[in-house]
Amino acid sequence: MSYEIKIEKTKTPKQKPDQNKLGFGQYFTDHMFIMDYTEGKGWHDPRIVPYGPLALDPATAVLHYGQAIFEGMKAYNTKDGKILLFRPHRNMERINASNLRMCIPQIDEDFCVEAVKALVSVDRDWIPTAEGTSLYIRPFIIATDPFLGVHPSHTYQFIVILSPVGAYYPQGVNPVNIYVESSYVRAVRGGTGFAKTCGNYAASLKAQMDAHEKGYIQVLWLDGIERKYIEEVGSMNVFFKINGEVLTPSLEGSILPGITRASTIELLKSWGLKVTERKIAIQEVYDAYQNGTLEEAFGTGTAAVISPIGELNWNDNKMIINDGKIGELSWKIYETITGIQNGRIPDTLGWTIEIK
Ligand SMILES: *Cc1c(COP(=O)(O)O)cnc(C)c1O
Repeated sequence: MSYEIKIEKTKTPKQKPDQNKLGFGQYFTDHMFIMDYTEGKGWHDPRIVPYGPLALDPATAVLHYGQAIFEGMKAYNTKDGKILLFRPHRNMERINASNLRMCIPQIDEDFCVEAVKALVSVDRDWIPTAEGTSLYIRPFIIATDPFLGVHPSHTYQFIVILSPVGAYYPQGVNPVNIYVESSYVRAVRGGTGFAKTCGNYAASLKAQMDAHEKGYIQVLWLDGIERKYIEEVGSMNVFFKINGEVLTPSLEGSILPGITRASTIELLKSWGLKVTERKIAIQEVYDAYQNGTLEEAFGTGTAAVISPIGELNWNDNKMIINDGKIGELSWKIYETITGIQNGRIPDTLGWTIEIK
């Protein structure tokens, strides 16, 4: 493929939104990156073009059978004017893991990091600077054959769009309440749970809607077979601190291998804490709550980084964790990861990449 990225700049730049009212995923920048895949030819024609609608044949495969994957990452503006990406190669590796499962051809990971860097550089004026804000980066791949038949597409598009996003916690890091879902399931081993593929999210909406109606912000999924073991929360992995030890579900194919999860584990180990990846029964968490050893619980993911859990509701057994306040360790992880991301703390782990 040609590694030269053609750039066509917009002639009608948009008005930038108010930095204090960004929210999440509502505004998009002036440009997007696109490249095409054709069987026999591979990925080709990488280009940065003005942001705008895609023209798709109504028979386009992805619209019918959901052959697609996506990613989520962020670019940060530091106080001294640098632009940083956080572990972007991990996202591209994960794209290829998702691609393999969804029969989508492999991408060139290094080139795709370069593509993200080029796009962010073109739209660098869109990266917000207010405390806690960032530029959310959404790469995705869709199957584009105009054909109604269940088989892997012969053509694809890899697209990257950018969205300036507000501080996740404008009023300080607030713990969330979570409903433990005992009837619907998100994924099973052998399925697509470990892939960041669209259908997983469509399948999760009903439980999330029901939880909202009960006054909960998100659901904690249990395993698809016994409804016994903890999986993950919405779009976050989950951690528990019980009696000084940090526990998180092991990766067995049904949960998404989060980059924030991996970073959290690496940090905790570097601090000399005991971290264990294994099966965790919800009963075990409830027992720890009852005997007073459940010290902290939190979710990890790119959007919030760390999301402390203040309440878990399992079959109407309510667990109020750490008096509904953020725990000391959750806070330390949050401060460290966000500090590395926005350049407040020196990056001794080599996790960030600067965009010049
Ligand atoms: C993206 C995602 C996560 C978090 O992954 P990060 O790489 O930490 O952002 C966790 N669970 C699900 C289901 C996800 O889609």
